[in-house]
Amino acid sequence: MKYNFSAGPAILPQVVFKEAAQAVLNYQDSGLSLLEMSHRSPEFNQILEEAVALPLELFGLSSEDYQCLYLSGGASTQFFMTAMNLLSDSYKGYFLDTGTWSSKAIKEAKLFGDIDVLSSSKDQQYNYIPKQVAIPEGKGYLHYTSNNTIFGTQYQQTPNSGSLDLVCDMSSDIFSRPLDRKDFGIIYAGAQKNLGPAGTTLVIIRKDLLAKTNTGLTSMLDYKIHAAKNSTFNTPPVFPIYVSLLTMKWIKAQGGLDAMAERNRKKAAVIYNEIDRNESFEGIAVKEDRSLMNATFKLIDEQLESKFLQACADTNISGIKGHRSVGGFRASIYNAMEISGVEALVQVMQQF
Ligand code: PMP
Repeated sequence: MKYNFSAGPAILPQVVFKEAAQAVLNYQDSGLSLLEMSHRSPEFNQILEEAVALPLELFGLSSEDYQCLYLSGGASTQFFMTAMNLLSDSYKGYFLDTGTWSSKAIKEAKLFGDIDVLSSSKDQQYNYIPKQVAIPEGKGYLHYTSNNTIFGTQYQQTPNSGSLDLVCDMSSDIFSRPLDRKDFGIIYAGAQKNLGPAGTTLVIIRKDLLAKTNTGLTSMLDYKIHAAKNSTFNTPPVFPIYVSLLTMKWIKAQGGLDAMAERNRKKAAVIYNEIDRNESFEGIAVKEDRSLMNATFKLIDEQLESKFLQACADTNISGIKGHRSVGGFRASIYNAMEISGVEALVQVMQQF
């Protein structure tokens, strides 16, 4: 087996892979593969029922206030779906630009109405999170990316949003820690990091906001239609939803989000301590904004990069190469990564 540090699609717990494999062969002794079952079967209904309840349970949100949807089209579809559903003459979009994914969300939202970028860390190649942002009065939403997968920065706290509804792209750190606020407007996350395989996007939407979304949209991009049909307006991504459910059950069994946060803090401490201690390497993100999910770093002598990658490959370490826009290395240490994986990486860094 390899230690998989890929940024996504990414590592999932081994038990999840095993149960998912069994479901492909013969789902709960039904004599059918989950892949050939109707999305309107009692079996899938049961899966969906649990899969819409568990995100709220893990986050400590009430089903009276929130609804979960499983949609297609990746987090990238949410970049414009949020804007299409929310923006109006009396409801504006505000954005915090902290990296590639935020700036893509901004570009897409602009197509659907009046938006403002309140702050950006582009001036320093997105290596930090802007602080003390002035939040305008009035009605609208504030969109931000809680964890910047490519640059390795993360909001340590939910940003202040004044009277605005918070819309968060939580694709790369969902369920890695508890929420420090319970009033989000929308949380969305592509499944393929902390949740499941690529192919579904979890959207958690506050019901009062859902009630106010725009009408007259194309059905597939209308939150209200997906909500009214409990994500079965069309054939939902059955298998990714099932695997996401298995992962959420695993998180719950580990002790929930407090336990995940502790596990993630420990792993991150091991890798960042080495980055700071080892004179051959340096971190890319500023220390106070470092991500607990994606640790970015580089060699002081960049000529040695391919040699280090080879040393990693020789030790069964995979997916460590940094994103092409940043260079260097990126160790993605999502929930499912065991501390032994991080220790194996640190050992290679020490020997190098
Ligand atoms: N947001 C973040 C934070 C991401 O890391 C990614 C990609 N992994 C996306 C959005 C885009 O997701 P998708 O490929 O599912 O559209």
